[in-house]
Amino acid sequence: MIICEVGNGNSARFWHNNWTSHGPLIDLTGPRGPEVTGLHVDAVVAEALRDGNWWLSRSRSRNRLITMIRDSLPDANPISSSEVDDIYLWKPGNRVASISFSTADTWDARRASFQVPPTCILCNKAAETRKHPFFDCSYSSEVWVFFCSRLSINPPVLFEDGLRWLRNPSPEEFVKLIVKLVYQAALYSIWKERNARIHNQISHPAQAVILEMKQTVQARLDPLSRAHNSRRTDITLLGTWFSFF
Ligand SMILES: [Zn+2]
Repeated sequence: MIICEVGNGNSARFWHNNWTSHGPLIDLTGPRGPEVTGLHVDAVVAEALRDGNWWLSRSRSRNRLITMIRDSLPDANPISSSEVDDIYLWKPGNRVASISFSTADTWDARRASFQVPPTCILCNKAAETRKHPFFDCSYSSEVWVFFCSRLSINPPVLFEDGLRWLRNPSPEEFVKLIVKLVYQAALYSIWKERNARIHNQISHPAQAVILEMKQTVQARLDPLSRAHNSRRTDITLLGTWFSFF
């Protein structure tokens, strides 16, 4: 299960990432969550803060969805004052309380019917250990290496080293943010591809995943770029992205 440890909330997606102890909030509320609360479906966590508190904190509404979200949110203070970036972690052992579909449970159910780990459905070569898909797998690494070589970065191969490295992948502020968004998109798209192959018997070449990731990251960078641009005028975040891709 991929969980997000929210730092300043600038990249974690409020509705879709697993950053509270309740799983992705969109799974709790369904599509009506963003609609009822007025926080758009692609918002990052930082966008949900108003003057150091959650945007819903002063709402008097008795709407069930609003109350549920308010009760699910952690203390806003540490996030609004944080200066560290959000990080994404793979937590194999932790069962996070969630009413939603749990990837970890699916994984365990699938493993239970095998004596040895099944062969990875992405590369059909290696055994699918929990860490293999990120990015030990030849399919995943084709995706990841494409982005790393364009960005001229050289992350360590080992999973834990990779997570440490991800805290500060580049001295350049914009590149750092881009790498984190790419990493997040890679985890999401590769996991989605794996599940599509298992559950729907649909498979896509690595190039299709790369294309999807580019669109995802670009869509995330657009609003962030506008926010950053009010502070810097010389080069934009999106401009940095287009200089690489
Ligand atoms: Zn593989």
